This record gives sequence, C-alpha cells and structure tokens, in this order.
Amino acid sequence: MSEKLMKREISAFAYCLKILVPCILGTILLMGGTIFVLIKFGFPDGAMEANIGFVLILLLNIEIVCPFLIVYKLIRPLQQLNKAAKELAKGNLNVKVDYTGQIAELKMIFLNFQTMTKELASIETLRSDFVSNVSHEFKTPLTAIEGYATLIQNQDILDSEREEYTERILFSTKRLSSLVENILMLSKLENQTIKPEINTYRLDEQILQILLQQESVWNDKGIEFDLDLDEIDYTGAEHFLYHVWSNLISNAVKYSHPKGKIRLSLKQDAHQKRFQITDQGIGISEENLRHIFEKFYQAETSHKSEGNGLGLAQVNKIVDLIEGTITISSVEGVGSTFTVSLPD
Ligand code: ADP
Repeated sequence: MSEKLMKREISAFAYCLKILVPCILGTILLMGGTIFVLIKFGFPDGAMEANIGFVLILLLNIEIVCPFLIVYKLIRPLQQLNKAAKELAKGNLNVKVDYTGQIAELKMIFLNFQTMTKELASIETLRSDFVSNVSHEFKTPLTAIEGYATLIQNQDILDSEREEYTERILFSTKRLSSLVENILMLSKLENQTIKPEINTYRLDEQILQILLQQESVWNDKGIEFDLDLDEIDYTGAEHFLYHVWSNLISNAVKYSHPKGKIRLSLKQDAHQKRFQITDQGIGISEENLRHIFEKFYQAETSHKSEGNGLGLAQVNKIVDLIEGTITISSVEGVGSTFTVSLPD
C-alpha cells in the first residue's frame, strides 16, 4: 500500500464526521446568512415562505443526502464483499475483491478477505499436490510388483531370475507398506489424533539404542560415529522423539559418503536440551533447503527409492508439537547439521 494511500486512510467514524460536519456547518451558515439578510433588509412579501422553503431544502440535504452518501460509501463495499463471500462458499477460490475507498476499517476487511482467499487457494493447491504425490508414490511400486509378477508367471525363467524378481516384489511391497505407515503417521500428527505418551527417561540412552538398531546399515557403509552425549534425564514424548532421532540418524547415514564421519552431540543448555547431528555427506543446496520440510520433497534423486520424502515432514511436525525447534545448516558437497532444541 503506498504511503499516499496510507495518509488518506481515515476511520469510518471520521468519514461520517467528514460528510456531516460540512453539511451542518453549511446549513448553519446559509440559514444564518439568510436570517441576517432578512433582518438587515426587512421582510418583503413572500420572503418568509421562501425562507421556509430554503430551510426545508437544507434540512433535506442533511436528513437525506448525507445519510445516503454515508450509506452508499459504507454499504456498497460491504455488498460487494457479501457477494464475494457467497462465491467463495460455492468453492470459487479465485474470487477477487477490491476496495478503492479511504475508510480504514473497510480497507482492513478487504485486505483480510484477500489474504483469506489466497490462503484457501494455497491450501487447496497443497491438498491436490498431496493427492497427486500419493498417487504417484503408490503407482511406482505397484507397477513394479505387476511387472515382476508377470515375469514370474513365465515357466521358462531361471531359478535365479525367479528369486531376483521375488526379491524385487518384496522390496516394492515393503516400500508400499512403509509409505502407508508414514502417511498415516503424518496424518495423525497433523490432526493430533495421537497423544504423546509422556515418560521420564534418558535421552542419551534412547539415541544409543537407535544407533544400535541401525548398526547393520552404517556398518555396511563404513560410517564412523563421533559421540558426545551428555547423560540427560528427560520428561516428554518418548515415542515421538524416537521417531525424530531415528529419522535424522538414518538420513545422515543415507546421505553420507561411504566411510564418512557423523558427529552426534547431546547437551544441556541454559533452558533447553540440544541435539545436534553433523554429517559430511552430499549436503543440501539453498534452494532445496527452502522445501526440505514439505511432504514428499526429495532434494536428491539417487536415493529416491530408499525413502519417500515424508521423514523430515514428520520430524518437523513432531518438533513443532512438543514446542521445540529444528534448524538446518548445510553446504552442498560438504555436509549438513541438523539441530533440535527441546524446551526444559
Ligand atoms: P527421504 O525419505 O527421501 O530421506 P526425508 O523427508 O527424510 O525424505 O528428507 C527429505 C529430503 O531431504 C531427502 O530426500 C534428501 O534429499 C534431503 N536430506 C535429508 N537429510 C539429509 C542429509 N543429512 N543430507 C543431505 N540431504 C538430506
């Protein structure tokens, strides 16, 4: 909004005064002037009637024209808004409203209406993007399962081939199952239909337990861990946090180069507990960082089949639910650091 427009903006009350005051002052001046002239020059024949007529016209001006002007300027925009709201209710999210007047309250209502329609339109876009992403993610493993199942039906294939195709079918089935699990989990988190179970436990032990569970993967890749974990008692959502650490650790392993190093630290700061995981992997570009928490977003395509882009969306949602914060700093080709802070 330009400064010029801002300056011209006035409240509805001031606007009514702006119309009424000149009307009343004008009326008083004209009546006073007429009376003054009549007193000064006497009352010729018919002057009284003329004067009464004049006063009536002036009163009409105040009684009818002013309220009409006020109503016109205030009600017309509201009628426009009402029409737009009806369109919106019918599902037309592209409805546009525009207010060019100067009444501050109306300007604010129109601005809020515009913001609301924009928000609704973006939610709608997200929703349809979500549906098309889900369909796409389902389609890929389903097509694979169909293809390999068809190949297995062929009696002439070798046993080794049959075994390989069966493996691939199993891989795709697991992918589908993890996809469904992840979508369900995210939906429950978003709708807050799962209540976090609050326990008191040792955070460092939870992290070590996850490291052990994922050992076969990082061992195969020759990854080395550098651990700096303080012994920290924590009261909070144990299952939720399990998910957070597990996602961040498995990502750090997944996006590290073979024989890479990952540093894990857990510290008690003044008013919070801080978990940090740093890898020397492929890193994330600035552009990708902006979308990293979006559902199904995968910045890097060579590991596409190992995940579904829902992990960080879940992590972000969980951290948000437990009123913590998560930050990422990353340099492409150098590595990434994810920091999660939990309130005490
Ligand atoms: P995915 O299941 O694909 O790993 P996530 O939601 O966990 O999905 O992560 C989203 C994307 O963020 C990943 O596809 C990857 O491109 C990027 N990413 C996440 N963690 C890291 C990391 N430690 N290093 C580099 N890229 C990462």
